[in-house]
Amino acid sequence: MKFNKYHIVPELKKSLEELGFKKPTDIQFKSIPQILSGQDILAIAQTGTGKTAAFAIPLISMLQQNKHREPEQNVKAIVMVPTRELALQIENVFKELGKYTDIETISLIGGVEIEPQLKKLEQGVDVLIATPGRITDLVHKGHLNLKKIDFLVLDEADHMLNKGFYQDIKHLLQFLPRRRQTLFFSATIDENIKDLAYALVSKPVRIQISPKDPVSKNVDHSVAYVAMDDKRFFLERVLKEHPDQKILVFVRTKVRAERVFKAMERVDIKTTTLHGDKEQEDRFAVLEDFREGKIKVLIATDISARGLDVKGVEYVINYDLPDVAENYVHRIGRTGRGNNRGNAISFCSEEEKPILQEIETYLTQPIRIMSILKTEYEETLAISEAHGNDWRSLIKEAEEAPKLKKKKRK
Ligand code: ADP
Ligand code: MG
Repeated sequence: MKFNKYHIVPELKKSLEELGFKKPTDIQFKSIPQILSGQDILAIAQTGTGKTAAFAIPLISMLQQNKHREPEQNVKAIVMVPTRELALQIENVFKELGKYTDIETISLIGGVEIEPQLKKLEQGVDVLIATPGRITDLVHKGHLNLKKIDFLVLDEADHMLNKGFYQDIKHLLQFLPRRRQTLFFSATIDENIKDLAYALVSKPVRIQISPKDPVSKNVDHSVAYVAMDDKRFFLERVLKEHPDQKILVFVRTKVRAERVFKAMERVDIKTTTLHGDKEQEDRFAVLEDFREGKIKVLIATDISARGLDVKGVEYVINYDLPDVAENYVHRIGRTGRGNNRGNAISFCSEEEKPILQEIETYLTQPIRIMSILKTEYEETLAISEAHGNDWRSLIKEAEEAPKLKKKKRK
């Protein structure tokens, strides 16, 4: 079902269309109608599945439909989040989605001028986003009265527990009205989370989206066995086969990033690198160009790409496998976000096979193997040489077989 068929306010349909959100994601499809009907929910879904809009869409719609604010009701909905960054990110989502509504959203975070925000809070807002710690502080100082709230949202509940907010949240329970709608979102679930959830929600609808597989089903990922020295020819081939796509290439080190960049330059493929040796300003500029599509191929290390949220990355290539298994999921999670589909391919050399095994253990399942016929393999090398570049032997000497670091385990 498309969003334009939903029972949500027209102002929201307009902004959804502008944002290019046509269909709900799985978690949105299952949560939105339940929330609109007034149910508490307990929703578990992996990262990148669109949990923010899963609660923001119905909340905005309900708040817009009932604009009446009772005296002493200085906030209608509280969204608890684990970090300041997330508070700002979610505030933005509310502002974008609520662009044509009268909904007032603020996030209260530490480290910024608090007076203007408190003034706003005094006058009354619809949605307040903050960490449990900050909310506790506001309540104790008398700036915030929770007794009249209608909605309570906990986002990234697992992350909040990891950050030690369990006591704060439990403590806040006594200030909350019994009659309220509670929406509880988490990427993972375990006994602690369940314990917290059931202390907050009442008769919830439980929604769980394939939590066993940490990789989003929108990402089609496979592994190809390629010798270390031949990786660049395969990269060349993939890049030439997808000339117009936005592609993110992951390598193990900064040095390798620059080497791959040079190798591609020699076969007339324009790429750009992103790694920790570059100035922060350069890094922002590179990212901006990649976002805008001025750069099609970005060669990055794990560190530099952490938290990267670029729209429309169609391909992720693991030129090298990551040192830490979990990073495999973070890397390929850069594509296939929201309702988009994504592709990922990993080049695995003989030396990297133990890492592959670790990744598969982490995923609890094998990664599909993209089989390359011997003729195809040779053809890939030949195509490159047909280019008239006899740089293969030159580079081969220069590039020592990289030693694999001992894996750090968390
Ligand atoms: P999560 O909290 O589950 O990790 P987010 O809420 O941050 O995921 O959403 C991930 C990305 O998906 C965001 O960039 C968001 O804009 C996009 N997105 C969410 N819902 C939709 C949708 N229905 N259609 C298209 N894109 C969507
Ligand atoms: Mg989220």
